[in-house]
Parts: sequence; C-alpha cells; structure tokens
Amino acid sequence: MEAWATAYDAQSIAVLGTAFDLAQSVYGRRLTSYGQPLFEHVLGVAGVIGSLHLDYQAMAAVLVAHVLESEALSAEELEQRLGPDVLRLVQGVSRMDQVHRGGMDVTLDEGRREPVNQAESLRKMLLAMAEDIRVVLIILAEQVQLLRALVKSTHPMRQRAAQEAQEIFAPLANRLGIWQVKWELEDLALRILEPELYKRMARLLDERRVDREDYIGLVTGILRAELGRAGIAGEVTGRPKHIYSIWRKMKLKHLDFDQVYDVRAVRVLVDDVKDCYTVLGIVHGLWQPIPGEFDDYISHPKANDYRSLHTAVIGPEGKALEVQIRTHEMHRHAEFGVAAHWRYKEGAKASQGFDEKIAWLRQILAWKDEVAEAGADATEWV
Ligand code: AMP
Ligand code: MG
Repeated sequence: MEAWATAYDAQSIAVLGTAFDLAQSVYGRRLTSYGQPLFEHVLGVAGVIGSLHLDYQAMAAVLVAHVLESEALSAEELEQRLGPDVLRLVQGVSRMDQVHRGGMDVTLDEGRREPVNQAESLRKMLLAMAEDIRVVLIILAEQVQLLRALVKSTHPMRQRAAQEAQEIFAPLANRLGIWQVKWELEDLALRILEPELYKRMARLLDERRVDREDYIGLVTGILRAELGRAGIAGEVTGRPKHIYSIWRKMKLKHLDFDQVYDVRAVRVLVDDVKDCYTVLGIVHGLWQPIPGEFDDYISHPKANDYRSLHTAVIGPEGKALEVQIRTHEMHRHAEFGVAAHWRYKEGAKASQGFDEKIAWLRQILAWKDEVAEAGADATEWV
C-alpha cells in the first residue's frame, strides 16, 4: 500500500495531534492481546487508514480506539477533546469488536476448528455499515495490521486470526470492492496457514511485488501513449495478481503456474464497442498474442451477461500479460450489475436487497477514492 497520501487541513492536523498525544500517554507500555505494543499497533492501523484515503476523524478514532477501555478518560472527556464524530466512531468500532468476538463462538474440538459463522458476521457488519461505513473500514484496517504483525510472530492466535481473515474479512473487503485490503489479507492468511505453499508460490513468481507493480506501470504507460497516438480516449489500469489468487486459480482450473496468463494484467476502458476492437488491434500490434488465449465476450457474452474482450500476449521482457478491453458501460455492469465480480467468483446467490446495498456502498467508496486521488498520488489499480 502506498504511504499516507491524504492531505489534511490545519484544524484536522490539530485534532490528530491531540489524538496522537492522548493515545501515547494513555497506552504507555500496554500490549495488545497478541503481544505488540498497543501504541505501535494503532500507528500501524492508522497507516492502513491513510492508504485508504479515509478522513482525519477516522484516523483520530483509530489512534484513540482503546483509551476508553483503560478508563483513564470518560466518553464525555473524549468528546470534548476530539469532537462527537470521533467519539461515535470509537464507540462504533468497539461495538463491532464485541459483535465480532461474540458472533464467533469457535469451539476447539480435538484440535479441529468449527467453521466461523461467516454469514452471520457479514450480516451484522452490513448493519453497522448502514450507520457509518467508516466503522467497517476501520475494522478491516485493524485486521490488516493484526495479520501484518502476526505473520512475523509465533503467537498462538495467528492461526485463528488468519482463518477469520480468509472466511470473513477478505470476503467483506471483496464485496466492498476494497481490493487492496482483500489481497493483503488473503496473502498474509495464506502465509500463516500454509507457509510452505506460500514459499513455493513466491519462488515460482521469482519477482517481488514491487517489481511486478513496476512492470504494470511500464505496460500501462506504453498503452496510454499508444492510445493517445491513435486518438482514443481510454482509461488504463492494471494489477499484479496476488499469490493467493494465483494459487486458487491453479487449483480450481488444474493449471500449472506457466498456464496462468493473468499474473500480470491490465484493463482498458473505452467509450464504445468500435474502440474496443481498435484497442485490441493496437495491443496485438504491440505484442504477440498467445495462441488460444483470445476470448470475445462482446460478440459472445457469458451466461451471466459479462461482456469484455480478453487476450493474452507476450509483453515486454518476454513475460505473459493479460489484457482486458471493454466499454465503461460493460465495466459498470461487471462491477455493480448482476454479473458482480464477487458473485461469479464465489458462485453464490444473494438476495436482491443485499446486492443493492453493496452496489450503493461500492459506488460511495469509488467516489471517495476519486475525490482523494484528485489530490494524491494513488496507485492506479485501486
Ligand atoms: P483476481 O486477480 O482475479 O483475483 O482479481 C483481483 C482484482 O484485480 C479484481 O479487482 C479484478 O477486478 C482486478 N483485475 C482482474 N483482471 C484484471 C485486469 N486484466 N486488469 C486490471 N485489473 C484486473
Ligand atoms: Mg483473471
């Protein structure tokens, strides 16, 4: 994730300063349940919150999230110092923590764990989101920080935390469309639960994540320049596929690593269908297509009405590269419509009301990102 990128005004910075000092003095040398200094933990969470471009109130709430527990300070005093919104967020987060703990009555049965009650936890979190989406985003940020710390420790709670990340928090992030949280949770959980497998996959990749991000940056740069030369207004994004997703694909489709062509992938969004085919021509002119990997889901939409052009080519440095090309309208449909990404991936059926609510929340998040990105140097595949 990128560094703190959100710009705050002077008044926000003053509130953050107060929250920082308060947290530091109240927490002292207290440790979290997994053994990290509490102050370090909240700073880590604040870092994740910054990379999600959340506002200063969410950031302040994260810093002081545990001061009420210590009873060093009353709710009224906290409100006086940081304002009613920050207090409400702190209370919302601690309520959610209770829901989370209470909702997961996991019994240890001869070393085997009962599956966590995913549906019930998701439902409760959805209810909390209706009140203030920031509460759920803070919970997700806490989970990222928790796993980042646990992956480096031998604390006994790491197994359970990783399992919850896989079964509850990553699916939640997926449904909210916060892909940078989803991938990190999934990869950290895999690293904890299947360390050998994770190492094997990392060896197969033979390139660090930052290198793969740089590669995507190189390819999107080339494509943007070529689109400009052809006079096509297109939006180019991309991402390196994360380790968990590569492994899942290999397993589900019985593929060897070399047969996974979307390890490095980009997507071009254009205005109309004609432009889709023009861009396809440009891509195949730049890089050699890999035989048998072209799919025209525009002339032949998938059963769920998904429409897009997919191709795989030999990109720069001789590396396989997937390119998806579609109109903005097709993309909206794929992301928010009946062919919503998470649904076809999970093969689940969901109720109409649930989907609508999620679609609405995702649009709000996308809008928030646009606002934040206008002034910040954000990663381009968020
Ligand atoms: P996956 O790699 O399939 O697990 O997808 C992870 C994320 O990458 C999702 O948000 C996808 O929408 C996104 N994604 C998948 N393929 C591409 C692509 N060709 N270009 C850009 N983003 C993609
Ligand atoms: Mg893919």
